[in-house]
Amino acid sequence: MKSILLIGLGRFGRHIALKLHDLNHQVMAVDIDEERVNAVLSFVTNAQIGDSTNEEFLDSLGIRNFDTCIVAIGDNFQNSLETASLLKELGAKKVIARASRGVQEKFLLRNGADEVVYPEKQLAAWTAIRCTSENILEYIELDDNCSILELSVPTGWIGKTIIQLDIRKKYGINILGVRENGKLCMEITADTILTSEKSILVLGPQKAIQKCFHI
Ligand code: ATP
Repeated sequence: MKSILLIGLGRFGRHIALKLHDLNHQVMAVDIDEERVNAVLSFVTNAQIGDSTNEEFLDSLGIRNFDTCIVAIGDNFQNSLETASLLKELGAKKVIARASRGVQEKFLLRNGADEVVYPEKQLAAWTAIRCTSENILEYIELDDNCSILELSVPTGWIGKTIIQLDIRKKYGINILGVRENGKLCMEITADTILTSEKSILVLGPQKAIQKCFHI
């Protein structure tokens, strides 16, 4: 179980709080707006109304005790930047900050953020990739070149074993696992047979994946 400080409870912050709750993590939620704090009370461990650009307030939360601090403030970049910077000064172990414009990424990284999330950009890429093929169920871009995808088994592959397809040799793509009835199985062998009920998890270079799955 991780201890997370979540600052900013707009739609983005609220969804983060809900997911962390599902994952059983401890969350201290903070917003300057009382209504927004009240709206998350049922699924966070603790909550405080306060201004995260106020050093005294932030210090009173015991920043060093959190495994991760998330700054989910979007529109007010000044507040977001000041908060990320103060968190680092107060000894935060890890600061993840939200950017809502490309140029903000580098400023946040220079001013206290260890990682930056840029939801609009990341989800736009995810949406574009997903809509290019009906076979794509999930998509994670690892870097500019490499991705993990979950795909339904292409029609021509049904009934074949992994060794028969030999896509590692042909395309440099690895099959990491198969999902059946919602359950992911990573213990696959060369003899695992692909069926229409299964989906496959593959890892490989973007270009090779596009070629192999006609994306
Ligand atoms: P979202 O895009 O997530 O729906 P939003 O557009 O409603 O959010 P933002 O300006 O992005 O609002 O801010 C996110 C949240 O951060 C808001 O609930 C806002 O009250 C809160 N917030 C902004 N500045 C501070 C601050 N200095 N201290 C604490 N909370 C803040």
